[in-house]
Formats: sequence, structure tokens, C-alpha cells
Amino acid sequence: MNKNVIVLFSGGLDSILVYKIVRAWGFEPVAITLTSPFIKKLDKEYYRKKQGINFREIDFTNVQYEAIKSPIYGYGKAINPCIDCHAAMIRMAKEEMEKEGAAFIATGEVVGQRPMSQRKDAMNSVEKLSGVKGYIVRPLSGGLLAPTIPEKNGMIKREWLYKITGRGRKEQYQLCEEFGIEDIPSSGGGCLLTEKSFIGRVKTVIKYDNRIALNYIKYGRMFDLEGTLFILARNEEESEYIFRNGGDKVIFPKNRIGPTGIILGKGKEIEACKIIGRYSKGEGKHIECEYRGEIIKTEVYNEKNIDTIVD
Ligand code: SF4
Repeated sequence: MNKNVIVLFSGGLDSILVYKIVRAWGFEPVAITLTSPFIKKLDKEYYRKKQGINFREIDFTNVQYEAIKSPIYGYGKAINPCIDCHAAMIRMAKEEMEKEGAAFIATGEVVGQRPMSQRKDAMNSVEKLSGVKGYIVRPLSGGLLAPTIPEKNGMIKREWLYKITGRGRKEQYQLCEEFGIEDIPSSGGGCLLTEKSFIGRVKTVIKYDNRIALNYIKYGRMFDLEGTLFILARNEEESEYIFRNGGDKVIFPKNRIGPTGIILGKGKEIEACKIIGRYSKGEGKHIECEYRGEIIKTEVYNEKNIDTIVD
């Protein structure tokens, strides 16, 4: 029997516990973490040193983007398609399970902990959508759920499964003591899709299906220039990021002190340069920007509010 188990690892306390529980059951946990521009990156060193957990990162961007574009189960409080997204995560975990020949997938879900994706009916929807019915083991709440295939075939005993529900953490803290977990992370990765301030940006990216813009979703101010997206840094750090990663799409001021931007789409460099002028400091009303080795000269945009900005 293959003793490997895929642990869908979010970095939060529940997924740390699941990793430890699965190991205590005698399996070999293989932790996988899905990454995308929306999900806060986990600190590998912290988990390796403080929790004794090494995880494998798998790029989830395109799969998650498809879930965001047209979710079957809709959005949560912002633009988070949690049920569809979660099902997509499980599908990716299933691929890993098949590659590894692992026995099952373990997740840190707790019944009733999250309003959207951790209700019992939502868990069933996730199983249906992901096509892995019966192979998702939820050690923290499994005692309250229907038996899974590993339970039916004797790999897992019902009495091993906990019956934790809701948002409280008391039982999890007790388990921390049992497993000798001293350093408790305040939360897992965090997801920008749950923040209302990102709704406009994400919708704009979807409207033009501009996938490159996903890499800049959390950077700068976004402007919608009739289909071309322009991202303008808000500070030096963002200017640096755009400059380093933007290649020939980068535009920056030459005769004034101001931020760097990136043009994601066709044309619009004059408009972009005007906007840079609006956010830069210097004498006079003229701005010169460098874009693809050429100098663009134009007037500083001097409207107080620029109506192309995406809020
Ligand atoms: S919070 Fe974000 S990453 Fe998590 S399931 Fe919801 S949309 Fe997906």
C-alpha cells in the first residue's frame, strides 16, 4: 500500500494540524501549496524551520483565473469564487495524488468555519465539481461527515477523525499541545479575491481577458485605456518591480521625478505618459517619457481626477 497522502497545505493552523495528524496515523504527508498572484505567498523557511514542514509549490494561476471568470457557484463577499476555486484546488491535488499514487487527499477544512466553502452542502458541491468523490479526507471534521473510501477500506478508522465545527479554535489549540506545536501562525496565506478593493481590478482584467495583468494585480494604480490596461507604480518599490519584470512594456519619466508604469495592450503610450505626468514632480506642463527606446513628449494630464482609473 502506498503510504503517501497529499495534504492541501494553505499554511494556516488547520492545515499544519492535518499534516501532523496524517503523519501520526502512519502515512507520509506530501504537502502541496497552490500559488497565484491572488494568494499570499508562504514563507518556506518559516514552515521548514518552525513547523518541520516542506511543501511543494504548484502554479495555480490559470486554473484559478478560469474559476474567477465564470463560477458555477457564484462569488462570496467580494470576487472570491470559493466553491469553484476550492474544487479546482482539489482537482489539482487529484492530479498530484495520481502522479504520486497517493492513498487520498487530506484538507484542513472544518465544517462551519467559513461561510461559503466550508458548509456541508458546499463540501459536497466541491466533491462533485472536482470529480474526486470519496477520496477527500477532512481529519478535523471527518467524524461528522460521511465515511470516505479510505475509511471504508480500512485505511482510516472512524475514531481517529475529529469532530471539530465552527469558527472557534479551542480544540485546535488543544491539538497544538498534543503535537507540540508552539509557534502558531495567525493565519494562512490570505487571498486578495476576498477583498472588496480588488473587485474593480479583477473585473477589468476579465473584461479584456488580459492575463498578463494578473501579474500586476496587486501593484500600482490601474487605468483602463479603452482595452489597454496601464499600471502605474505608487511607490519606489512598485516602480522597481515593474521595471524589473515589465520588459519592453515599461514606460518611465525622463524630465520629471515620477513613477514607472507598464502598458499592457496596444498603443496608448501618449495617454500613459500624460498620466505619469499627473503623478510626477517637475517644472512646467510638459512631460517626456521613455518607452521602447523612444522619447515621447506630451502635456501633463492636469485633470484632478482621471476618469480611466479603475477603483
Ligand atoms: S479564499 Fe481565495 S484561494 Fe481560497 S478558496 Fe476562496 S477564492 Fe480560492
